[in-house]
Amino acid sequence: MSFVHLEPQTRVGHWVNGGLVLGTGQRTAPVFDPARGVVAREVLLAEPAQVEEVVASATAAASEWAEWAPQRRARVLFRFKELVERHTQDLARLITLEHGKTLPDAAGEVQRGLEVIEFACGAPYLLKGQHSHGIGGGIDHWSQRMPLGVVAGITPFNFPFMVPMWMAPMALACGNAFILKPAERDPSVSLLTAELLAAAGLPAGVFSVVQGDKVAVDALLMHADIQAVSFVGSTPVARYLYATAARQGKRAQALGGAKNHLVVMPDADLEQAADGLIGAAYGSAGERCMAISVAVVVGDIGEALVARVLERAKRLRMGNGLDDNIDLGPLVTAAHRDKVAGFIAAGERAGARLLLDGRCDLPAHCGAGFFLGATLFDDVTPAMSIYREEVFGPVLCVVRVPTLAAAVALINDHPYGNGVALYTRDGGTAQAFINRIKVGMVGVNVPIPVPMAWHSFGGWKQSLFGDHHAYGEEGVRFYTRYKSVMQRWPESIGKGPEFVMPINQ
Ligand code: NAD
Repeated sequence: MSFVHLEPQTRVGHWVNGGLVLGTGQRTAPVFDPARGVVAREVLLAEPAQVEEVVASATAAASEWAEWAPQRRARVLFRFKELVERHTQDLARLITLEHGKTLPDAAGEVQRGLEVIEFACGAPYLLKGQHSHGIGGGIDHWSQRMPLGVVAGITPFNFPFMVPMWMAPMALACGNAFILKPAERDPSVSLLTAELLAAAGLPAGVFSVVQGDKVAVDALLMHADIQAVSFVGSTPVARYLYATAARQGKRAQALGGAKNHLVVMPDADLEQAADGLIGAAYGSAGERCMAISVAVVVGDIGEALVARVLERAKRLRMGNGLDDNIDLGPLVTAAHRDKVAGFIAAGERAGARLLLDGRCDLPAHCGAGFFLGATLFDDVTPAMSIYREEVFGPVLCVVRVPTLAAAVALINDHPYGNGVALYTRDGGTAQAFINRIKVGMVGVNVPIPVPMAWHSFGGWKQSLFGDHHAYGEEGVRFYTRYKSVMQRWPESIGKGPEFVMPINQ
């Protein structure tokens, strides 16, 4: 089986009604090769009329898909799973070409998306509802979960395969038609995904891709036939999207930005803690919503830990993510690189101690790519913008506190609450931390605690707007409506009308 989008195309189009749509004379945005710092291709930006066309084809396909038996839908997902396994390296390459992360990291992203597809293959079990036989008066009572209809997913640049897979397999397994609006900065992988789903036997119109920006998002939000919207991205857009969807009477879940802390207790293994910090702070150049951007050092281990982190950070190898033995790829665009560099300048001005400056001494082989080296600040305080705001780059801030209680208070005061980690050897300390911390995903000696597919992903506070976390059983609840049914047959109805609330004696 051969697929057009194994290679990125010069013009990235939409996927509508089971086929590629390449319009002419439309608005476009440049897509960069961040490792080389050049425009590599262009992506179409949909106007409301294009969104209308996508929603119409999804609406036409949704009813029949909803009537397929759950195990028949699951068989499509099983075949999709096999195709994703077979094309993991192709998907990863497309991610690296446009996002910049290293190839092994991109393959890891594909694997984590694959795990949600595997979970969604269990749709028949997940949708089986609950039954109560004989609740009184000859009545059987059960609950069943019904598809919503057409749902949309709006996704960020930093996980162009994994985050759509947090949504689409769950939505499809539950019997919905799904419309993906990917990020403009790395759109090509969305079209290979669409091709693989089509090859797996998904009927035309059940999965669509509409490329675009705010214009497309707003058209989806305002469209009467879209029943629910899942969003992952920055907090200002998440807040806007959640409020706008709610005003339109739509179900919405909007996962936002993050500022994740890793607390190191004095009893921790400092080598393990330093390794944990290095991978979690600088992996994917810090462009992860679960990246650690603050190390909270408790007690008198500050100098010893910072020395270990600094020594490791200086050894990171920067370069094109397609090459072997690279730790740190480029940032996604020049504008984003400059924004992160602006945060570093602001940190210096605010008086934080800059131990390693990623703006300096870029290796010659990095050329015109959007590179920024690993950056380490010590003596950061909560008032500084590098502490308060999401930097989303390879910048780690060290904050020193005297006690665990002070660490917990610091983190609980932060407006974001996505992920957090604690390094300790003491079970009592870990339990107290788990109980008191106001953050959605907690790791103990695990730096990036991204939940497995059969649990669910989501932060607290400004990191998530809505009631449901993503994927897992939360995903089933989000993508279905609950229906309660009571049934009896004429021979069990005997007593005539009843005027008081029926109860069992
Ligand atoms: P972004 O908010 O700029 O864009 C996300 C999506 O929203 C894109 O599809 C984009 O086209 C669209 N969009 C952008 N501006 C819009 C607007 N004004 N109105 C309507 N739609 C708009 O985010 P990004 O830069 O692509 O991704 C990085 C952000 O995503 C970071 O803040 C990161 O923490 C967050 N993120 C969060 C999670 C999580 O699970 N909480 C996961 C991944 C990324």
